[in-house]
Amino acid sequence: MFKSDRFFLMVVSIVMFSLFLVGCGNGEENQPQDEVVTDENEGLYIVTSFSILNDVVSEIIGDRGTVDYIVPIGEEPHEYEPIPSDFQKVSDADVFYINGFNLEEWLEGLVQNVGDVPTVEVTESITPIKLEGGDVDDPHSWMNVTNVITKVETIVNDLVERDPEGEEVYRENAAAYIEELEELDGWIAEQVEQIPEDMRVIVVSEDAFKYFGEAYGMETEGIWELNSHEEGTPSQMSRVVDVVRDRQLPAIFVETTVSRSYMETVSDNTGVDIAGEVYTDAVGVEGSGAETYIKMMEHNVNTFVDGLTQ
Ligand SMILES: [Zn+2]
Repeated sequence: MFKSDRFFLMVVSIVMFSLFLVGCGNGEENQPQDEVVTDENEGLYIVTSFSILNDVVSEIIGDRGTVDYIVPIGEEPHEYEPIPSDFQKVSDADVFYINGFNLEEWLEGLVQNVGDVPTVEVTESITPIKLEGGDVDDPHSWMNVTNVITKVETIVNDLVERDPEGEEVYRENAAAYIEELEELDGWIAEQVEQIPEDMRVIVVSEDAFKYFGEAYGMETEGIWELNSHEEGTPSQMSRVVDVVRDRQLPAIFVETTVSRSYMETVSDNTGVDIAGEVYTDAVGVEGSGAETYIKMMEHNVNTFVDGLTQ
C-alpha cells in the first residue's frame, strides 16, 4: 500500500512537472515573436561614440529609432576605456556611428570584440585639418557647423539604406535640422564680428577650435593639441602664457572636459581671468543649457563674445 501510494504520487509529480515544462515551453516560444514585433515598432537601434554625435543622430532619427552613445558626458572621447556595457550596446546595435579622424583612439579594442556590427565614419566626406607638423587628422571637425551639415547628409543616406521605409521621415527631419544649422552658422559669423579684430583669439587647454577658427575667422591657441597628448609641460605652459601677454587678451577659457588646473596656472601667471567654460568634446549635462550640439555652440560663442569684448 505504502509503496504504491508513493508510486502514485511520483507519477502525479512527473505528469505535473511535464505539464509545467510544456507550459514554460509555450511561453518561451511566444516570447521571441513578441520581441520581433516590438523591435519592428522601435526601429533601428543606433549606437554613437560620443554625446555630440548622439545629439546629431537623434535629430535625424526622431521617434523612428533609438540612439545611444558610449563616452559619458563630461568625459573626453579621445582616451576612453570601454566598460562591459559598452560592448553589449555596440553588439546589439544595427549600426555604430563614429566620428573618425582618429577621435576614438579606443575604438579598435571595442569593435574587435563585438562581432559583425557595421561601423560608419560620419566624417567620410569632410576635408580634415591636419595636426601640427604631421599627417594626422584633427578630429574636432564638428566645430565648423558646415561640417556637421555634411555629416547629417552622410548619416541620412546611411539610415535610408538600412531602413528604406523611413526615408521620408529621415529626409524631413534632416532638412529641418539643416535649416537650424545654417541659421546657427550665420549667427556665429555675425557674433564673431562683434569681437575687436585683434582680440579674436581663443585660448584653451586643448587646441580643439581649429575648425571653428578657420570657419569663423578666429586664431586658436591650446596648451596641447589633443587631450590624448595632454602634458602641460613647462614649455607648453609658458608658450601660452606668452601669447596671452603679448596679445594683451582680456580673456582665456577652459573646457568642461579638461581639468581646470592648467588654465588656472595660465590665469595666475598672466592675471587674465578664465572668462567661462566652453564645450568641445561633449555636450552639457541636463540643466546646463548646453544639452544639444546647437546649444553648446551658442553657449561657446556667447562666452567668447562676452569674454573678448570686455
Ligand atoms: Zn578633443
